[in-house]
Amino acid sequence: MVKGIDWKNLGFGYTKTDYRYVSNFKDGKWNGGELIQDDLVHISECACVLQYAQTCFEGLKAYRTKENKIVCFRPDLNAERMMASAARLEMPQFPKERFLDAVKQVVKANIDWVPPYGSGASLYIRPFMFGSDAIMGVKPATEYQFRIIVSPVGPYFKGGMKPIVLRIPDFDRAAPLGTGHVKAGLNYAMSLHAIVDAHKQGFNENLYLDSGTRTKIEETGGANIIFVTKDNTVVTPKSNTILPSITRRSLMYVAEHYLGLKVEEREVYLEELSDFKECALCGTAAVLSPVGKINDHGKEILIPSGMEKTGEITQKLYNTLTGIQKGNIEAPKGWIFPIS
Ligand SMILES: *Cc1c(COP(=O)(O)O)cnc(C)c1O
Repeated sequence: MVKGIDWKNLGFGYTKTDYRYVSNFKDGKWNGGELIQDDLVHISECACVLQYAQTCFEGLKAYRTKENKIVCFRPDLNAERMMASAARLEMPQFPKERFLDAVKQVVKANIDWVPPYGSGASLYIRPFMFGSDAIMGVKPATEYQFRIIVSPVGPYFKGGMKPIVLRIPDFDRAAPLGTGHVKAGLNYAMSLHAIVDAHKQGFNENLYLDSGTRTKIEETGGANIIFVTKDNTVVTPKSNTILPSITRRSLMYVAEHYLGLKVEEREVYLEELSDFKECALCGTAAVLSPVGKINDHGKEILIPSGMEKTGEITQKLYNTLTGIQKGNIEAPKGWIFPIS
């Protein structure tokens, strides 16, 4: 029985569900892991995560298909990315096969919370890991918890995609040899001031530059970016301080192999922005969010697709990728992970 929720009006907030998956790391190994109902975490007040922010996370979704099957989209890439994040933060890696099994278990246990096909809503899955034992001197924890919580979330854009406005902020997101390429909580902690400030000034998101030269486009606080040139090439910035978005990697594949477009992953300069005809953010939450304007310190760069509609290529990419995710368009091998 699907829960009686008003799916169409569900927002993007957290709704507590029945079960969460927990595995603890102690004495050099992960324990077996289990599904539990307690939504509180019990750790030392001196836990490494609380003192030194030793934590990383992932985000993916489960959907119901037309045939009422439940599937996830490329969770193997989330598992691999989380292993990379853990390694960079001196945390133990949670093995890929166990990650996939844990996703399956926790979605199945909360199956009634997976929104119906066609509602636009989905079940957001949030795996995360943190250093859980008391640490005073600066060093990695010796005990960790890996946990997966899930929450039904509504459609990102109610009533269709709406173009958003970005600004170039006077803040940086990632240092050249820092942690921008891993999904660490600390990257988000330091972006909070910038996003609150952007909202105060009337912008939707911050479009960060490379902090080394401040001449090249990187990404926003929580989404990668793609551009479409006037001759329909899909371009995305190349940089080793960008978080490798699974949505972006999938969109570039779809652009090339499903839509027959040219694709380029290369350095993109701030100066070039006015040459593009479409621009969109990409990530699990919205898949694609069209960008209508970019504000660079008062100078407005108007994207030709404008503030009223989604660009043609952006819309095609969106329709194709969401069609693949929901099982209506044949997926490349291995992209769809069946849950039930
Ligand atoms: C999670 C995240 C993304 C989007 O990645 P997806 O795998 O597509 O959801 C983009 N940028 C940052 C900084 C992120 O943390």
